[in-house]
Amino acid sequence: MLRQVADGVLVHESEFIQSNSVVVQGRAGVLLIDPGITRNEMVDLANDLRELAQPVVAGFATHPDWDHVLWHAGFGVVPRYGTARCAASIREVLSNADWKARVAEGLPPEFAAEIPMDLLGYITGLPAEAAQIPWDGPAVRIIEHQAHATGHAALLIEERGVLVAGDMLSDILMPFLDLQAANPIGDYLDALHLFDGVADGVDVVIPGHGSVGGAEQLRTRIEQDRAYVQALRDGGVPEDFRVGPSAPLEWLPDVHQWQLQQLAQK
Ligand SMILES: [Zn+2]
Repeated sequence: MLRQVADGVLVHESEFIQSNSVVVQGRAGVLLIDPGITRNEMVDLANDLRELAQPVVAGFATHPDWDHVLWHAGFGVVPRYGTARCAASIREVLSNADWKARVAEGLPPEFAAEIPMDLLGYITGLPAEAAQIPWDGPAVRIIEHQAHATGHAALLIEERGVLVAGDMLSDILMPFLDLQAANPIGDYLDALHLFDGVADGVDVVIPGHGSVGGAEQLRTRIEQDRAYVQALRDGGVPEDFRVGPSAPLEWLPDVHQWQLQQLAQK
């Protein structure tokens, strides 16, 4: 079911950790950001768009993780964009003959059979200097940063006051760092600083997973994520409900411990 969160911006929420697919209405059709997750969810979304007489004219993947590069034939054959780094990263994954088996290892077992892999990852990289998504609709600014994953980008739809955050600024997931990067902590803090810089123009923040928030929520989430990352940096215990005894997902405290271990080895 599609829910309008701002003028011309709609969200479809998945059963899998509240993954949000975002629909932005343009002049001749819609831009579809991070569609997913299950086959049935994508079929429903395609049907909803058909009923609204809103064909998909372009796609965008915020980053190369499997849950953000899915697609369904019902959306049609259109360019599916990502940053140059995002496209290169997923291309490398797909270059392995056994990529399906490798990706399957990381899928949540309870959803694995319902996640269609056949159109996964066909992302067209935009030129590194591209500041906007090339499409016929409201300007969508690309805010690329190194934090959660290679080539990760948030999107700012300025005239609608909407920030699509990808896997940043979630109310249910603490920051997941890119632990393969040389400086994961510094990268993450830099990315949060980028969000500080645009926050004044944002009325609605849409995270890749979690609840859609308003302007105040955006600031709260930036501060909350900064506090978490700084606690990791300083070796302190973060006062963060997302990794505490009442974590919204029971496996988050384990991921938190793992992040601490990985950082200690750097
Ligand atoms: Zn994700």
